[in-house]
Amino acid sequence: AFILGIETSCDDTACAIVTKSGHVVSEAIKSQVSIHENWGGVVPTLAKEAHQNAIDDVVEECLRKAGVTDIGKQVSAVAVTVGPGLSMCLRVGVRKAQKISGEYGIPIVPVHHMEAHCLVARVKEEEWNANSEEEEEEENGGVAKFPFVALLVSGGHNVLLKVEGVGRYTILGQTLDDAIGEAYDKTARLLGLPVGGGGGPALEKLAKEYEEIVLEPRREQCRKETEQEAHITDEVFEKIVRKKVKNPIRFTVPLRKRKTCDFSFAGLKTNVRLAIEKHLGAVVDESIPEQKVLPSENWDGIENRETRAAIAHAFQTAAVTHLEDRVSRALEWVESDGVSPTCLVVAGGVASNQKIRKKLLQIGANHSIDVVFPKPSWCTDNGVMVAWAGIERLNLALGVEKPVPRNSEAFAKDEKDRDVQVRLKPRWPLGEMDERAIGEVK
Ligand code: ATP
Ligand code: FE
Repeated sequence: AFILGIETSCDDTACAIVTKSGHVVSEAIKSQVSIHENWGGVVPTLAKEAHQNAIDDVVEECLRKAGVTDIGKQVSAVAVTVGPGLSMCLRVGVRKAQKISGEYGIPIVPVHHMEAHCLVARVKEEEWNANSEEEEEEENGGVAKFPFVALLVSGGHNVLLKVEGVGRYTILGQTLDDAIGEAYDKTARLLGLPVGGGGGPALEKLAKEYEEIVLEPRREQCRKETEQEAHITDEVFEKIVRKKVKNPIRFTVPLRKRKTCDFSFAGLKTNVRLAIEKHLGAVVDESIPEQKVLPSENWDGIENRETRAAIAHAFQTAAVTHLEDRVSRALEWVESDGVSPTCLVVAGGVASNQKIRKKLLQIGANHSIDVVFPKPSWCTDNGVMVAWAGIERLNLALGVEKPVPRNSEAFAKDEKDRDVQVRLKPRWPLGEMDERAIGEVK
């Protein structure tokens, strides 16, 4: 049986068809990056309009790719994101789901966007083979087994969760201000980097440039100099390397004194602004959100490029260390509860950052657990995660909304009256806060 998943909570119109055993049959997505690019954020009215323009085509494409000719027979439920997100946008997806549900008499499964981000780690990534129908009977769940710890890092979310089962989530910590992706985007913008589709990749690249051009030659030098000293740890070695850098730029790791799993990235953003003003002589007006601070001539000299790379590197180092701190503590908390997590799941657009991957893999190794990164296109908003979350909920009969049966007398002539009642939940906490978490969150 096929489950159709629909996602419209933010700036992607996405759809997928997944089998009950978790094989992805087809996917379609229309991104709005080019629409919001010049606005410094997602503009709700534009997003809604773009969803409305795209939704029919995206769903149609998905059905066609899956070879669905009779929705009523081949699709057994429609899963749709009902929150959290922009209500204007959520409504477009929910209306589409209601239309299909009403027309073909199939149930709707309302899905929590963040739950979907978490659970997609349980989907297998192998190709679907239409001829092996017997696989339908397989046990559900791919890679990540319950219980696990999940770190969701994207442009809009930054949260650590204890996941004990479907619908059993505890929030260990979340951001007190910005999400890490937002901080990457703002920093990239301040540094004059290309930010279309998010500034993260460009910033990561510039930070890497600093590693290669500035740090690596110093390391080379230090390796020779410390050859005789046998017992130098990596940490001490890096300190020696740093001492060799002329004007090192370093930012404080956020919330070090606060022994929780909360996050904060606003301070780092200020550090970046101050560093740009101090080292590059530019003035940043924070009241202009999409301001690209520096005129291009400021960037041209080698010196400036190096300074800019140093700022990018300092930002990334502090941001990633902050993630490491929080993830380590989250694992300790969960372990001290007597729960042995099977793995750490890392999802959201920021999970594609190589530095972050490397560091989190290390933390996983320290705790002897696997680290699971869903493939990049399932880390950002997508239809597969919604369809799969719907399947996990269907399996437990959790929150399924049934339509009026088609052949009953109550089946209304008027299309509108056939709608399954589905409530939008633009604000919808995924679970209880852990009692050790103290963060009051917006
Ligand atoms: P939501 O939180 O609602 O899912 P979103 O659309 O902002 O919102 P994603 O699409 O999951 O989130 O991720 C986009 C974010 O990920 C952007 O902020 C982008 O800068 C960041 N990002 C992408 N690649 C990288 C990278 N290599 N390093 C750091 N950040 C990255
Ligand atoms: Fe998302």
